[in-house]
Amino acid sequence: MSTQVAITVAVAGIGAYAWYLRSSSTSGDKPVFSSFGFHSLRLESTELINHNTKKLRFELPDKSKPSGLSLTSALLTISFPKGRWFPVLRPYTPVNDLSEPGYIELMVKLYPGGKQSTHLHSLEPGDTLTFAPIKELAWTPNKHPHVALIAGGAGITPMYQLARGILNNPADQTRVTLVWGVNMDEDIFLRDEFAALERSHPGQFKAVYVVAAPAAESPHQKGFVTKQVLEGAGLSAKQSKDLDVKVLICGPPAMEKALKGKKGTGVLAELGYRPDQVYSF
Ligand SMILES: Cc1cc2nc3c(=O)[nH]c(=O)nc-3n(C[C@H](O)[C@H](O)[C@H](O)COP(=O)(O)OP(=O)(O)OC[C@H]3O[C@@H](n4cnc5c(N)ncnc54)[C@H](O)[C@@H]3O)c2cc1C
Repeated sequence: MSTQVAITVAVAGIGAYAWYLRSSSTSGDKPVFSSFGFHSLRLESTELINHNTKKLRFELPDKSKPSGLSLTSALLTISFPKGRWFPVLRPYTPVNDLSEPGYIELMVKLYPGGKQSTHLHSLEPGDTLTFAPIKELAWTPNKHPHVALIAGGAGITPMYQLARGILNNPADQTRVTLVWGVNMDEDIFLRDEFAALERSHPGQFKAVYVVAAPAAESPHQKGFVTKQVLEGAGLSAKQSKDLDVKVLICGPPAMEKALKGKKGTGVLAELGYRPDQVYSF
């Protein structure tokens, strides 16, 4: 919900301002995204990481500074497709360590006919793209004993940003459980990164994958993100008496609807989670 509000606010004033900034670059003493503003970044490299997802690495104007984005944040991207009157705006989530200086990395899934994902997949090194920061859930270490990350498809990127942010901070003891639903085994990316986090943080981090149409040799359970799957992953407020768990969701509208339902009727309510425990990216 917060993302939609942020986008609406940004769209309201964007026309002339974004046009003016299309070819601008920035410099200054502060990290580029430490406050709201539009900035044009140069694409440094691209890498195809599975059958439909590309990693895009953009240079920051000052190579010695990090982006200035806080945990958790997204970036609103703005493009000006040929033949269209209006700019296209969509949020994407940086997946690099936010403290690393000099660059940001996005992982972008290509949707057939998708306006922005098609544009982003067409970019070549040297091209530029305009960004503005969006603050998402402001994460406070150890505020909750346990966080449940429930993702569908490309909704994994905010979850990865948060999981690595928590687990890379030795002072943050929050337990993290990730449940990620995808269509096919080939849709899973960041597998090695999540496996490394499980190895380095046994007992603190667990990742569970659910595949709608798994291959015969798939190691993952078949299906969708259901009540049974979440219970199997240890995500049930009723069973665990884990009253202060925070539940974060990012995925297609159908998944979100099934989980949140209307007026406390969804899967999460059945598992004993209150609406105030749940946040949607
Ligand atoms: C906070 C936030 C962070 C995000 N971070 C990322 C990220 O890091 N990487 C990433 O790849 N995407 C991310 N997204 C999704 C992204 O913003 C776009 O919605 C997505 O790239 C599709 O935009 P498009 O212009 O290509 O498609 P559109 O032109 O908007 O839509 C074309 C068609 O694609 C399909 N489609 C579009 N979006 C979805 C969807 N989410 N699920 C299923 N089908 C869809 C629909 O059938 C639609 O009709 C994020 C979204 C949010 C809200």
